[in-house]
Amino acid sequence: MTVTIDKYSGFCWGVVRTVQIAEESLMANQQVYVLGNIIHNPREIERLERKGLKTITVNDFNSIAHTGSKVLIRAHGEPPATYRKALDLGIEIIDATCPVVTKLQERARKFYIKGYQVVVFGKKDHAEVLGVRGVCNDECIVIENAQEAFDLVNLTKKQCFFSQTTMDRPGFILVAKAMKDKITEEVIIDSIENIATEFHAKDTICGQVSGRENHLTKFAQDNDVIIFAAGKASSNGKVLFDVCKAANARTYFIEDISELLPQWFEGVENVGISGATSTPQWYMELVKSAIEGKIPALDYELAVLQ
Ligand code: SF4
Repeated sequence: MTVTIDKYSGFCWGVVRTVQIAEESLMANQQVYVLGNIIHNPREIERLERKGLKTITVNDFNSIAHTGSKVLIRAHGEPPATYRKALDLGIEIIDATCPVVTKLQERARKFYIKGYQVVVFGKKDHAEVLGVRGVCNDECIVIENAQEAFDLVNLTKKQCFFSQTTMDRPGFILVAKAMKDKITEEVIIDSIENIATEFHAKDTICGQVSGRENHLTKFAQDNDVIIFAAGKASSNGKVLFDVCKAANARTYFIEDISELLPQWFEGVENVGISGATSTPQWYMELVKSAIEGKIPALDYELAVLQ
């Protein structure tokens, strides 16, 4: 059986940057806090926690106030209120927000200030979306499909439509088109007074996610079985897993090596391993070794710790 790791999978440059900043900070400081899980991957979190990283929430700020504590902001970014609270409590921020996310926040803010209704294609409570909501004083609308757009969007305001960086591009295009068509239709039937016809769709999906899709389809088709390793909370993990599954029905999602089932590999010649932008290379190597039988399942915890 041949087991191949997808050479385009694993950390995106934004996650590489965040982890690098965390490791540098941990080398210079005994204790560094991070707001929320640094990435959506339990194994990488454990690895960094062993080096002294401690995961907290904004609610923990009071207990570390004025102690010289340093708090890292992860790639997803944070709303302005978090920075203000840290400043008030004498907490030093180490900002590892991904530049792609910062750019999305800046663009959303710019349109919000100009009086546009900012609409975001994404998940309302996703950390990145909370940041975008924050820069728009929580006055933006978050939708996951066209129906929600029709139900929630006020068509008397000019609209600017963005996407959470890790959503799927076909979904974004579909919703943008549906919104545009709805505005055109309402203009024709004239059922809404003072309808605003101005509508902008800004594709803010990160190329590190969408750029992997074509290759991933081919990789999934070229292998008999695909093991997709990612954290269950990873948005892009879900998007990229769906791409694999659509191309190869024998695609299995695992967060942990212990979820691998021997029957998935019976009579199989080629196994492909892929992962999300938050799946570390070292973990995919470990999955490969486990599938090849080099690490007995019970010993893999030990291997992770080494
Ligand atoms: S997927 Fe894109 S936006 Fe998200 S951390 Fe990676 S580079 Fe940044």
